[in-house]
Amino acid sequence: MGVAATADVVVVGAGPAGASTAYHLATMGIDVLMVDKAVFPRDKVCGDGLTPAAVHELLFMGIDTTGWTRNRGLTVIGGGHTVHLEWPDQKSLPGYGMARRRMDLDHALVQRAREAGARVNENVTVTGALQDSTGRVIGITTRSGRGPQAVTGQIKAKLVVDAGGVSARLATSLGIKKNPNRPMGVAARTYFRSPRGNEEWMESHLELWAGKPGESDLLPGYGWIFPLGDGLVNVGLGSVASHAQATHLPYKKVFAQWVQNLPPEWGFTPENQVGPLASAALPMSFNRTPHYTNGLLLVGDAGGMVSPFNGEGIAPGMKAGRYAAAAIAQAMGRSTRVGIDRALSEYPEAMRTEYGGYYQLGRIFVRLIENPHIMRLCTTRGLPLPRLMTLVHKLLSDGYERNGGDFDDLLITALSKVVKPV
Ligand SMILES: Cc1cc2nc3c(=O)[nH]c(=O)nc-3n(C[C@H](O)[C@H](O)[C@H](O)COP(=O)(O)OP(=O)(O)OC[C@H]3O[C@@H](n4cnc5c(N)ncnc54)[C@H](O)[C@@H]3O)c2cc1C
Repeated sequence: MGVAATADVVVVGAGPAGASTAYHLATMGIDVLMVDKAVFPRDKVCGDGLTPAAVHELLFMGIDTTGWTRNRGLTVIGGGHTVHLEWPDQKSLPGYGMARRRMDLDHALVQRAREAGARVNENVTVTGALQDSTGRVIGITTRSGRGPQAVTGQIKAKLVVDAGGVSARLATSLGIKKNPNRPMGVAARTYFRSPRGNEEWMESHLELWAGKPGESDLLPGYGWIFPLGDGLVNVGLGSVASHAQATHLPYKKVFAQWVQNLPPEWGFTPENQVGPLASAALPMSFNRTPHYTNGLLLVGDAGGMVSPFNGEGIAPGMKAGRYAAAAIAQAMGRSTRVGIDRALSEYPEAMRTEYGGYYQLGRIFVRLIENPHIMRLCTTRGLPLPRLMTLVHKLLSDGYERNGGDFDDLLITALSKVVKPV
């Protein structure tokens, strides 16, 4: 058993959600220790796409993005149509997105948290929670290193944040289960060297066929081509289901067929492929709650925060980290457990206000596109309508202005307010 350590707040997992939490806590002078089983830089299966909402969070962290690839918007392809949709330039969101390999992005975020004063322990696997006699979480148990040299230890803390990604081992070990009635996605990606690796548009392909192209059902999802600006392109696909049990995607087969039918100018040949096709699950629409209970906060994938509209989890995870840090700072100024819990209840409420209605709309959206006829209608009839697509683009990319804005912003805000939040 190693020496027991302490911190005011322990953050489990140093992905975008954890690093954002640790960074914002550190800037408020809070003693925070972030642990991750990996050693950074480390890879993470992802599309590497950053919407304006994600860029917004990077700017909040003061990340220096000089030299990072910016993109103008999304090219959507389907039903014989190709539509270019610029990122909306909003009061609260920049009019550009980015693409950055997670190997680099996550490393930069961890470095930034460190610079702000967070302690970061790498190569430390969290094995469980420490609880007091009332069941309150008061720290974590750890294993440092691997193999026979591994050392077990404990870290005591006033509060613990589970930012451990989709597996949410800590939350799961405490019986916080995922809700199978929320949408769940599965996605896979690989990289290709490509002569078009420096394009300034991200591409989204709506025609993923379950069987023979043109003759079978369309899958509820999309394929993406995200140029990374260094001659490399992230190519992947994802599909979504309204219930966790329903996510069965023969992704290797669908991917091979889709890539084969892409324009040859991309150069997506086996010799240009860099690394294998790897997949992971996308937990959506707050499929694991409560986001605060008994000394434990959930942020990012651990709290099922991926958008059911487009599969993005970086922006919501980072925003959650910022909101969690704000509530924790208030909790640190309270002296009773009741007061601390009251201050922390602001965090799930803030997340619900921000995403509750929007993600409920997302659940309806997923139920609709699960019907292959509706998916086909969207591509053949919806895509050629520019007025409709401007609205849809804002809706799907969480690019709407939540306060004011134009007619589309007001409409999306109104819709997200009339539904019961998730
Ligand atoms: C194929 C694919 C494509 C995607 N494309 C995009 C995209 O283009 N844009 C986008 O915004 N989102 C995308 N997503 C979703 C996005 O990857 C996630 O939502 C995002 O990574 C969530 O961040 P996080 O910090 O919550 O978790 P993670 O990024 O998963 O980080 C969790 C961290 O916790 C650590 N950890 C886990 N367990 C333990 C433990 N027991 N002890 C210590 N450390 C632990 C891990 O090592 C990891 O570093 C995609 C997902 C997939 C699968």
